[in-house]
Amino acid sequence: MNDDLKRACSCCGEEKEVSVAASSLGAFSFAYCADCLTAGVEPYGALVSYIACAGNYPDDINPRWLDFIKHNLEFYDKTEEQFKNDVKEANEEMNQHFRQMASQTKNQGIDF
Ligand SMILES: [Zn+2]
Repeated sequence: MNDDLKRACSCCGEEKEVSVAASSLGAFSFAYCADCLTAGVEPYGALVSYIACAGNYPDDINPRWLDFIKHNLEFYDKTEEQFKNDVKEANEEMNQHFRQMASQTKNQGIDF
């Protein structure tokens, strides 16, 4: 146990004493300061990626997540419009990535 563990909180980004805890978004952990743990928020970028993988926001999103997202947006001082754009951007990046992988696979086929 190191009581002096100070690093940037994955949520608010401040250098504070943090605890590493399992994220409610999946099987990974982030560093949370006491304030963010209490607030029950997740790192904004992780939330965007998570929702982007789930589908279109808000249509494809389970209603129980909508309140959680709203809570996070309030914490990060973001509007729903900003969040929608961020999710869209993340989706486009992902699609581009998959397209790229697909074309690379095709090229490998031609080389054989
Ligand atoms: Zn924090």
